[in-house]
Amino acid sequence: MAILDIARMGHPILKGRAHEVTNFDDPELHTFIDDMKETMVHAVGVGLAAPQVYVPLRIVIFFVPEGRDGGPAVPMTVMINPVIKPVSDTMEEDWEGCLSVPYLTGVVPRWTQVKYSYQDVDGSLRERSAEGFHARVVQHETDHLDGVLYPMRMIDIATLAFTDAQDEDDEEGQDREGESSDDASEEVSDSETSAPAL
Ligand SMILES: [Zn+2]
Repeated sequence: MAILDIARMGHPILKGRAHEVTNFDDPELHTFIDDMKETMVHAVGVGLAAPQVYVPLRIVIFFVPEGRDGGPAVPMTVMINPVIKPVSDTMEEDWEGCLSVPYLTGVVPRWTQVKYSYQDVDGSLRERSAEGFHARVVQHETDHLDGVLYPMRMIDIATLAFTDAQDEDDEEGQDREGESSDDASEEVSDSETSAPAL
């Protein structure tokens, strides 16, 4: 296994359409997926797409941590050649981060409920439904396969921020509030700034 370099926004590999995987018997495919998993864990991300590690193939890995967004956890999933369909037109906005856009976070609209299909590492077709954070991760990662980064999906570019600058703002706010700052307000501010790295 190996930890792979992660491409950052601006590199051409992140701008193109990745190619479908057709040969599931290729041992190099399985070695590469193992390397993607190790790279994602090392980078403390919850999702990673092959173009982010300079490989233009339609491969995504992700998981949903326990308790995230109040929804169920989803174990580590390898999606090959994924296809997403929205269940309805309803969208919701939330904060996102990206391993290819380090130090930044922004508010991104995503479909709240989707159905998606993909092939697993053996080439078998799988189908799932997702909502909330699970649906968000799948949409973010699949966008990477079509050359789309989350800032391109943002409606209000004014929300684009450095994550550590948001923390500074929180600290100043708490200083102003002094000892009257209660736990509830801290919880809200924590969740607002806990953008996942995808
Ligand atoms: Zn990303």
